[in-house]
Amino acid sequence: MRVELSDINAAQRVIAGLADATPMILSPYMSAAAGQPFYYKCEMMQPIGAFKLRGAMNAVANLPKGTRGVTCCSTGNHGRGVAYAAAKAGVRAVICMSELVPEAKVEGIRALGAEVRIIGRSQDEAQVEVLRLVAEEGLVEISPFDDGYVIAGQGTIGIEMLETVPELEAIYVPLSGGGLAAGVATAAKALKPDIKIYGISMERGAAMYESLRAGSPLEVEEVPSLADSLGGGIGLENQLSFAACKELLDDVLLVTEDEIYHAMQVLFYEDRLIAEGACVVAIAAMLAGKLPKPAGPVATILTGRNADMKQSARIYAGQSVQLGEREIKGRPYGT
Ligand SMILES: *Cc1c(COP(=O)(O)O)cnc(C)c1O
Repeated sequence: MRVELSDINAAQRVIAGLADATPMILSPYMSAAAGQPFYYKCEMMQPIGAFKLRGAMNAVANLPKGTRGVTCCSTGNHGRGVAYAAAKAGVRAVICMSELVPEAKVEGIRALGAEVRIIGRSQDEAQVEVLRLVAEEGLVEISPFDDGYVIAGQGTIGIEMLETVPELEAIYVPLSGGGLAAGVATAAKALKPDIKIYGISMERGAAMYESLRAGSPLEVEEVPSLADSLGGGIGLENQLSFAACKELLDDVLLVTEDEIYHAMQVLFYEDRLIAEGACVVAIAAMLAGKLPKPAGPVATILTGRNADMKQSARIYAGQSVQLGEREIKGRPYGT
């Protein structure tokens, strides 16, 4: 089982006019920093505020006949995507998530008409409830990243990016469970075999990074991060996204919370954009000198804007931020 360009082309037809064609804009500041044109694919402009709508719509459109409803375990944006796609299709949706998910995200999902269940302290605990709903109530699970239709849906981003800027030399992808990276890399490498695809995660709790290093899916401890959408495991029984990331990613890099904090300020003050911490990991990596110097245009994906705005406001103001027991020391921008 693997996702092919033809699956991604099929997903393009499903989401056409509903979850596609987000803007691709140039960042003058990041272009200066990179020494090459640096683009942002603005997926935070999707109707649910994140790219996950693409995969969710494609998965819901391909449900088996007679499906009673769908369920998933989500740090927020996948839950939103599934809730929105299910509501459009008139299908019941039950979204399970851990206590670590910010309240704003929980409310956002309820507002889309889905049932929400909050279970345990980790994605893995919430996942137990998903399995129960599948076994006892006959719902169909839609994995946030380890599902062929979801990966194909996310892959449509890669096609659009290369349609807009065919000369792209590299794409920097925020990486968690790897559905986005698997889809984008599959599409981009099918269209342009020499393009480089980098996955980027936060330093603590980077499940895909640790699993790739170990050679097989690993459990990692989930810890609070400014990039909360990048938290969670990849599943010990991972079927698709781990193999695809192993085969297709040129490298996987990690950034610190301090680097993410600074990159959020950069996106706000230099580009005047608001997005989640998960979106800025490529900005953080480039500014920290962790990515190879590009020789042609590059791009990253601004994956979502469903940020905790009280926390974001503190960061823009240069104030300290509390992440569980850990304090990220404040620093006003430009000092
Ligand atoms: C889900 C998500 C990601 C990571 O996607 P994966 O497919 O899990 O790797 C990145 N950014 C945001 C905002 C997300 O919601």
